[in-house]
Amino acid sequence: MAHPDDAEILVGGTLFHLKDLGWELGIVTMTAGDCGSATVAREAIARIRYAEAQSAAAYLGAWYACAGLMDVEVMLNAENLRRVVDVMRQFDPDVVITHSPVDYMLDHEEASRLVRAAAFALAIPNYETRQNPPAQRGRATPALYYADATEGKDPLGQRINPQFYVNISKTLPPKREMLSHHASQGEWLRAHHGIDEYLDRMTAWAANYGSECGFAYAEGFRQHLGHGYPHEPILQAALKGFLHVRGSHETG
Ligand SMILES: [Zn+2]
Repeated sequence: MAHPDDAEILVGGTLFHLKDLGWELGIVTMTAGDCGSATVAREAIARIRYAEAQSAAAYLGAWYACAGLMDVEVMLNAENLRRVVDVMRQFDPDVVITHSPVDYMLDHEEASRLVRAAAFALAIPNYETRQNPPAQRGRATPALYYADATEGKDPLGQRINPQFYVNISKTLPPKREMLSHHASQGEWLRAHHGIDEYLDRMTAWAANYGSECGFAYAEGFRQHLGHGYPHEPILQAALKGFLHVRGSHETG
């Protein structure tokens, strides 16, 4: 994901299901959130938010890494791609979940493009990341999934419909707890928007997605089905007990 807290907000409930199912999990952010404060200087807030992301990942039981890009400068270029491929090669995942290709913020859209390109590149023998030392080549192109866009909407305010929803009613409490590790963001928003806005806003979005599919709380996903990427429904199969596929017994 682009920033510390994006994974928690967009897919945290699903990650707790996967943890329960025995999956090994990792969270990678493109940046350490260096623009995420109006009062704290860049390097200081980046250090704080890196530690918060580590602590949130530890609560989930996942490892955490940062690709070292800067807020508002997440973009698909060769140098950034080499960094992201190298981080991805260190974990060599079977499944990758990233931002929607269309989202409210360009950092999210560019992170999505970077991850799509990195997933394709990680197993290419001749693709060199030029890091020191470089990570080993990955085994194969991982299955690629997109989370719902932030608030589920494109930049023009239109709903982007997911392919399937995951019921996170049982994992909402740990999702909220995990998000609360990002105290700097909660404090910042509390000061500006009122008490617990941060956690409550995430919960309201999850309830909105839930209302679309008959769950109390949900997260939405789409699978990248382009040529060269795995088409097997790995995530859907693992989460079949929590799944609502759009178009099957549609509730509107
Ligand atoms: Zn973000």
